[in-house]
Amino acid sequence: MSGFDVEAVRAQFPALAQEAHPGKPLVYLDSAATALKPRAVIDAVTSVYAQDCANVHRAVHVLSQRATARFEGARDRVMRWLGAAEREEIVFTRGATEAINLVAASWGGANLQPGDEILITELEHHSNIVPWQLVAARTGAKVVVAPITDEGEVTLEAFTARLSERTKLVAFAHVSNSLGTVLPVATMIRRAHEVGAVALVDGAQGVVHARVDVRALDADFYVFSGHKLYGPSGIGVLYGKRALLEAMPPWQGGGDMIDRVTFEGSTWNDLPYKFEAGTPAIAQAIGLGAAIEWLEGLDLDAVLAHEAELLAYGTERLSALPGLTLVGRARKKSSVLAFLLEGIHPTDAGTILDAEGVAIRTGHHCTQPVMDHFGVTGTARASLALYNTKADLDALVRGLEKVRSFFG
Ligand code: PLP
Repeated sequence: MSGFDVEAVRAQFPALAQEAHPGKPLVYLDSAATALKPRAVIDAVTSVYAQDCANVHRAVHVLSQRATARFEGARDRVMRWLGAAEREEIVFTRGATEAINLVAASWGGANLQPGDEILITELEHHSNIVPWQLVAARTGAKVVVAPITDEGEVTLEAFTARLSERTKLVAFAHVSNSLGTVLPVATMIRRAHEVGAVALVDGAQGVVHARVDVRALDADFYVFSGHKLYGPSGIGVLYGKRALLEAMPPWQGGGDMIDRVTFEGSTWNDLPYKFEAGTPAIAQAIGLGAAIEWLEGLDLDAVLAHEAELLAYGTERLSALPGLTLVGRARKKSSVLAFLLEGIHPTDAGTILDAEGVAIRTGHHCTQPVMDHFGVTGTARASLALYNTKADLDALVRGLEKVRSFFG
C-alpha cells in the first residue's frame, strides 16, 4: 500500500501477535480509545526503570542526569512534532483531559467575567465540555455550543454565527472521536481571532491522524494524550503560546513549580515548570518521546495515505451491509467508523465481535451530546490506526454477518 510496509510495522507491535480468544487472532479496532504500543516505546519505558531510574531536575548524580536528559529530550521531540517555536511552550500533563482542565482553571479563572462566552461545538468529548462548565459556573461565563449537522459536520456558518465580542475562548476538537469528523481548525482559529478570542484545539485524535503545525494553525493552545499516539498512558501535552502561558497563574502548587518558598508567600519557576508541580510522569514522558521518534522514522505521508485508504475501504464494506447505518458522514473524515445495526444493541454486537477476536468500542464514547443529537444512547465504533489492514476490516464485516445471523 503506497510505499508503506504495514506487515513490517505490525511486527513491531507485540500485542498484535496474540489471540484474543483461543483460535481467534486479535483484530484491534479500538485505537481511538488507546493505541497499541510498538516495541520501541515498551523498551524505552523499561530502560528508564532498568537503568535511568531517578527523579529529574534535582540531583547531581549520574542516574538523575541521564533521566533528566531523556525527559527534557522528550519535550524537545514534542516541540518539533507540533512545530512549536520554543520548548518552554510544551507543558507535560497527565493527558488531554488534564491539559484542558489546566487551561480552564488557570486561563479561564484569570480571564473570564460574568457575561463572557466560551464557544465549543456539539461534537466535543466530555473532557472539552465539562472543564468549561466548571469554570463558567465559577466565573459567571456562559458555554455556547455550535451545533453539528446530521452528517456530523461543524459548518463554518454555524460556528461563526455564534462568535461575538463576548466570546473570550473557543475550544474544539481537531478530529471527533465518535464521528471521525475533521474540523476546519485553521479557519475556525482565524475566525476566533477576528473577534479577539483565544483558541484551544483538542488534538487528542488530530495529532495521531494529521500533520500538526501549531504555528501554521496559529493555535493558542493545542492539547493531546500520549497513549493515543502509540505512547504510554499517564502523559499528555499542553502546547501554549509563551505570552499566554507567562501571563497565566499556576494551577497546582508543589515541588518544581516554585522559585522561592517562604511562609509569607512563594514565587514561581520559569516555563514550563510553573505548570508541572510535583514529580512528573518521567518514564511516560520518555516513552512518549520514543513514540514520536518511532513515528518520525516512518514516511508520514505514506502512513496517512494508508489510513485514508483503509477508511475508504471500511466505509464501502460497511455501507454494503443490510441494516447498518453509518453515524458520521462528514466529507472530511479520519479513522473512525461508527455505526448502528437495526434492531441490535451496540453492546450485543460488540460482545459477539469480541468472541470473534474483533475489538471495537461500544457506548457513548464520552460524547453524550453527540448521541443525543442522533437520538441514540450509543453506537458501535471501529477505529483505525496505522497497523490496521483491509483484512482487519474484512474480519469486522465477517463478525458483523455473524452478529446479524445470531439475531436472525
Ligand atoms: N478529546 C478527544 C477527542 C478524545 O478522543 C479523548 C479521549 O478519548 C480525549 C479528549 C480525552 O483524552 P484522555 O482521556 O487521554 O485525557
